[in-house]
Amino acid sequence: MKAAKAHTAPRSEPAPVAISHPDKVFWPDEGYTKGDLAEFYRAIFPRLAPYVKDRVLSLERCPDGMRGECFFQKEKPKGMPAGTPTKQIAHVSGGKSTNYVVGGSLATQLSLVNLGCVAVHVMAGRSQAPRKPDWVCFDLDPESGEFADAAKAALRVKDALDDLDLVSFAKTSGGRGIHIWVPIRVGPDAGEVLGFAESLMARVAAAYPKELTVEHSIAARKDRVYLDPFRNGFGQTVVAPYCVRLRARAPVSTPLEWSEVRPSLSPTDFNLGNFLQLKRPDPWRDFFKSRQTLGEAIKRAKAS
Ligand code: ATP
Ligand code: MN
Repeated sequence: MKAAKAHTAPRSEPAPVAISHPDKVFWPDEGYTKGDLAEFYRAIFPRLAPYVKDRVLSLERCPDGMRGECFFQKEKPKGMPAGTPTKQIAHVSGGKSTNYVVGGSLATQLSLVNLGCVAVHVMAGRSQAPRKPDWVCFDLDPESGEFADAAKAALRVKDALDDLDLVSFAKTSGGRGIHIWVPIRVGPDAGEVLGFAESLMARVAAAYPKELTVEHSIAARKDRVYLDPFRNGFGQTVVAPYCVRLRARAPVSTPLEWSEVRPSLSPTDFNLGNFLQLKRPDPWRDFFKSRQTLGEAIKRAKAS
């Protein structure tokens, strides 16, 4: 009888996922609960799905919310439902492999929330070909702690990408920084993409040495904006768009129109409490339609 029932259920019906302790407060200052987080991910999932579908997830787990410690977990947690899609990846050849959760279904996302996963972080390559990125990512970290500095830096990086005819997309990190993603066609491996990102960021930083830096040493960065290309290395991650961050006000890593990238923008204005009511259009709607051939840009960057 059970099988017959499952057969007649409409295919689009989301799998029911029970959230334990939904009243547990994760953000005490705002009173947001684990249940609020689950409802947010349920509602936003159509927007999040393209960035987690077929991608292995690094899990930011904060089982006690702002009141406790967080940890990153790569191995599929015990307690995920049977049948959760996974993918084994060996980071070093011959080394121990990790059995990652593969995203893409609402049931997986909500099961992760149930285990206290506040945000999912993603690699630039799909699980089918994890060493073949389909985006380049730049992580802009303002050492001043001022979002305004990250916004100014992001516009400098955009100009450099425009000069290479590369379409780029910006989002708040949810912290004080900005992430810039450039969608690419699968081709170059993570090492080549990282090489491109490193040399481009070094060039942009050299053009604005008072504002921008690629210094490895934190002390040497001073109050400048660090242009981090290393998120492009194989196995490295960035928080997925539309994820909530475990910070004051529960900010959402929010895709922006380039016209919104201004020093006056306050990234915490996009948060768990108001995000759905804002009914924002999707500034990244053309992200995957805009995949570009990186080879051409690599050649042009080398020539210039
Ligand atoms: P911020 O605006 O505060 O910089 P962020 O998400 O960019 O926010 P970063 O510290 O710059 O934070 O890290 C960039 C990305 O690197 C993160 O989004 C995350 O995916 C990954 N990351 C950072 N720290 C860790 C960690 N300890 N373990 C695993 N991944 C991490
Ligand atoms: Mn950052």
